[in-house]
Amino acid sequence: MADIVGIGVSHGQAVGPVVHMPGPIVEPPLGPGLPDGASAAALAERITAASGRVRDELTARAASARGDGKAILEAAALMAVDPILVGEARLRVSALGSPARAVWDAAGEFAAGLTSLGGYLAERARDVADVRDRIVAELSGLPAPGIPDRSEPYVLIARNLAPAEAAMLDPATCVAVVTAEGGPTSHAAILLRSTGTPAVMAARGVLELAGDTVVLVDGSAGTVIVEPDPAEITRARKAVRRARTFDGRGRTADGRRVRLMANVGDPGQIGVAVATAAEGVGLFRTEFCFLDHHHAPTVDEQVAAYRQVLGAFPGQRVVVRTLDGGADKPLLFLDRPPERNPALGIRGVRIGKNSPQVVADQLTAISRAARRERAEVWVMAPMVATVDEAADFVARCDEAGLEVPGVMIEVPAAALSASQVLQTARFASIGTNDLTQYTMAADRDAGDLAQLTDPWQPAVLQLVELTCRAGQERARPVGVCGEAAADPALACVLVGLGAASLSMTPQAIPDVAAALRKVSYEECVRLARLAVAAPGARQARQAVRAELPVFGDLGL
Ligand code: PEP
Ligand code: MG
Repeated sequence: MADIVGIGVSHGQAVGPVVHMPGPIVEPPLGPGLPDGASAAALAERITAASGRVRDELTARAASARGDGKAILEAAALMAVDPILVGEARLRVSALGSPARAVWDAAGEFAAGLTSLGGYLAERARDVADVRDRIVAELSGLPAPGIPDRSEPYVLIARNLAPAEAAMLDPATCVAVVTAEGGPTSHAAILLRSTGTPAVMAARGVLELAGDTVVLVDGSAGTVIVEPDPAEITRARKAVRRARTFDGRGRTADGRRVRLMANVGDPGQIGVAVATAAEGVGLFRTEFCFLDHHHAPTVDEQVAAYRQVLGAFPGQRVVVRTLDGGADKPLLFLDRPPERNPALGIRGVRIGKNSPQVVADQLTAISRAARRERAEVWVMAPMVATVDEAADFVARCDEAGLEVPGVMIEVPAAALSASQVLQTARFASIGTNDLTQYTMAADRDAGDLAQLTDPWQPAVLQLVELTCRAGQERARPVGVCGEAAADPALACVLVGLGAASLSMTPQAIPDVAAALRKVSYEECVRLARLAVAAPGARQARQAVRAELPVFGDLGL
């Protein structure tokens, strides 16, 4: 099979056999009744045996999991052998003639019963569906749904990857990811970068690869080489070894300071940010602490999570972003009805309209955590669109005793109003992932639109410039925390447009630092002019890179 080209979304190379993400379990067909010669008792026994095997498998996985993951797996293991669920399925099997269908129907009724009870029990309906799928897969001889459970290194192939699935991948075994859909600004891509897992997205044809085919995934070039020869494998391994380090002080060739900070999600991964000598945290995505929570986290739970990040950076700046739930990061505890267009719905700062207590509790928790640690804590709201929203957020932060409130600029309206927004907000951080999505009207997860969801788009760069200029006029710091900052050439452009700090996945910091050390501030300004004047993203990238031949030599 020919090599496959997609878009590299997480740098680095890795080699391994491919494993496909199992497809969703669909409703098993109705049987014609009890098959000839089949005894209802024997079919019922198959149900009991399958649910027992699912329980054993979930229990084994729980044994090696930690924290919330462990508790969730233990609860699911118990659910798999729930006497009502299994008993109901056994009763139905003689009429339906299919153990898988009997489990499906019994689980449907069980889940509906829980939903009608409301509250906590209603939330468990989703767990019933998960357990149902596992038992049906077991009975049908299909692989269990979800992330494959492998002990040997492999390359995961999927149509698309949800953020929660990306978060569950173990980088020790899943050495690379290739998806047929998705794009560079998707949250799954961000998570993969944060664990240093090489990844290629929007790679058409990848779903046709046979299981266990060996591939070389190049997340920098955006290619998947099928059955690489030994020389290619050796070259890839050498590239992996050319690792850079960062001295902890970002600056251009002529010494202009550009603070290089880390984007952090799961507090458990803060060690990478510390190890790369990041100059603090420029974006702490707090929603990632609570993605799998069915109940709103208590203030105490939040304080504990936030302290882990603040405590890792004593004396340095940590920018805590309030919950950015919604769209592709649904927060289970917000209990929102489905939206037709969630990216344009209740997301980010808009959560406060329906769930004011969630916002109030979070600000209280951040404030308490800040008082117990020595980090310099800044707080910002995501998805701010209007001057009023910015002022309201600042007022709430004041009430909570948070001294440096700011906003993210990721909606074009906010960029256009940046001068007024920055009258109240003390700083702004530009989220180029969403700013690109909303400027180009292109879903950041749509692999087909990856050419549009490219932060090199000159229209996006103009909004970045407008925001930076507003910051200079109001003497408010403006930085960039979208993934654009992780691209070494684009980082130089952003500095030229006026960004005072860049925050990115920590693994990207050493490369971006090395790139900035090669260009003066004046050159950055010249590169920025070239990019803004280009007719499109591709031409902007080409024009800038043509001025930086040294980047190619450095492997940047
Ligand atoms: C962004 O939109 O650029 C950003 C940093 O926020 P997130 O990727 O979490 O939406
Ligand atoms: Mg965003």
